[in-house]
Amino acid sequence: MNMTVLEHIKRIPKVELHRHLDGSVRVETLRDAAIKHGFKLPTTDLKKLKKLTQVSPDCSSLTEFLKAFEFFYDFLKFPDVVERISFENCGDAKNENIEYVELRFAPPLQATQKFSEEEVVKCAISGIKSGMKQFGIKAGLILCIYRSLSEEQNWVTAKLAEKYFGRGVVGIDLAGDESRFEVGLYKKFFDYAKDAKIPITCHAGEAAGYKSIKDAISLGANRIGHGTRLYENEDLMKEVRDLQIPLEICLTSNKQTQVVHSIKEHPFKKYYDFGIKVTLNTDDPSVSGIDINHEFVLAEKIFGLKISDLEKIILNSVDAAFMQKEEKKVLYKKIKNEIEYNKQSKRLGEKNDF
Ligand SMILES: [Zn+2]
Repeated sequence: MNMTVLEHIKRIPKVELHRHLDGSVRVETLRDAAIKHGFKLPTTDLKKLKKLTQVSPDCSSLTEFLKAFEFFYDFLKFPDVVERISFENCGDAKNENIEYVELRFAPPLQATQKFSEEEVVKCAISGIKSGMKQFGIKAGLILCIYRSLSEEQNWVTAKLAEKYFGRGVVGIDLAGDESRFEVGLYKKFFDYAKDAKIPITCHAGEAAGYKSIKDAISLGANRIGHGTRLYENEDLMKEVRDLQIPLEICLTSNKQTQVVHSIKEHPFKKYYDFGIKVTLNTDDPSVSGIDINHEFVLAEKIFGLKISDLEKIILNSVDAAFMQKEEKKVLYKKIKNEIEYNKQSKRLGEKNDF
C-alpha cells in the first residue's frame, strides 16, 4: 500500500454516503451480541470469528460474501445491538477521519415480534446521537425500501422515514435484489418520498443493467447507489453527467460481489474522466474488510488518480450529501481548508503529487 497516499488521505476529513449499518459491525460486537442473546458460536476467538464474518479484500465470490452476512444476521435483531452498532459506527467513522456519514438499513430486517420496526429506527437514532456527541462527527440514517420484502413492510419503512425525517433520518433508499425486482415496481414509494420532500437514493446498475439506473432517475432518485453498469448506454451517461446526478461508487464491494471481475475493469475512471459526479464509498466495510481510506488508495493505485483527483471526489461527496444547505456549506469549507492546509505543508518537502 502506498503509505504516502494513505497518510495523505487519512489526514483529509471525508464524507461517506453509502455504508450499510448491518455491513459495518465490529467483530467483538458480534461476539458480545451472540453471547448475550444466547446464540451458540463455533468459537469466541476473535481472529477465528473474523474469518466467518469477513471476507478478504481479495475475495471475488458473491456466495462467500453473502455467507458472512448469513452467519451473523440474527445477532443484530435486538435493541441493545442496533443501538451499539449505530454508536460504534460513529467511532469507526471518526477513526477513518470521516466527518459525516450516512448509514443505511431496512428496519424490517432487524425487527422481530418483540422488536418493532419503529423501535429499530429509534435505537439507531439513539445510537448515532450518542455517537455524534461522543466522537464529534455528524451522521444521518437512510431507510431502505427493500426489494424482496412485502409492500406492507415497505410502507412501514416509508412512513417511518417520513416520521423521523429531520430527526435522524436524512433519506430513503431502494435496496435488495435488483436482478429480480425492477425499480418501477417501487414507484409509489418514490412518489411518497418526493411528496414528503425526502431525498432519494437508489441501488441501481449493480446487479442489473443501465435500464435500472434510467428508471431510478425518471422516478426521481437524487443519487444512484453504484451505477456500475451506466456505461452500457452513452445517452444515459451524458444525462447523468449533465444533471450532475452523483454516483455512489463502491469499488471493493463491486469486485467481491462480482459486479466486475477485477477493480481494473471497473468503469469508475471512465465516469470520472467523463465528468460524472462520482463519490467513493465502502458499502459493507466490516464484511469487505476495508475502510474508506482503503478505497481512496485503491483509486490512486489502480487508476492512477492524483491526490488532487481524490480531493475533488471527497468534495463531490459533500455536494451529494443529504444535508441541510447551511450545514453542507460549513462542511465544504472545513474540508476545503484542510485540503489547502495539507497542500501547503506538503509543499514544504515532499515530492510533487499535485
Ligand atoms: Zn449498498
